[in-house]
Amino acid sequence: MADATARRPDRMRRLETIPQLKSEAETLSLMTRRYCRAFHGTPDGLLCPACAEFLAYALRRLASCPYGADKPVCAKCRIHCYRAAEKETARRIMRWSGPRLLFWRPKLVWLHLLQSRRPAPEKPRNRNRNP
Ligand code: SF4
Ligand SMILES: [Zn+2]
Repeated sequence: MADATARRPDRMRRLETIPQLKSEAETLSLMTRRYCRAFHGTPDGLLCPACAEFLAYALRRLASCPYGADKPVCAKCRIHCYRAAEKETARRIMRWSGPRLLFWRPKLVWLHLLQSRRPAPEKPRNRNRNP
């Protein structure tokens, strides 16, 4: 079944216009590509069908993240918007690619560490209840 972002392609523009989401989209894409190359033998820059499907799903979730520019790291999120199967795939990819990212793109790791130190914001729909 198509999710809301698939029905609203304009949402995907948030991955270009919101710097936080843009940087996470780049990290996610890099980690998935490298994982796919290592485990599925795909040439660099390409994805096997399963990884392509996962990445498309993950980018749609990211583009729809209700936190927008205030997005916490997903590990600290109070919403957890992934379906169970994709959550497990993400966990597998992060576990392998996460430590290697330090060698591939140290700046991205540094940004992620800084971001993960920030407390998780409230769920967006609750924000206006306690001004
Ligand atoms: S898990 Fe939370 S922070 Fe991550 S994309 Fe989904 S809603 Fe946003
Ligand atoms: Zn793959």
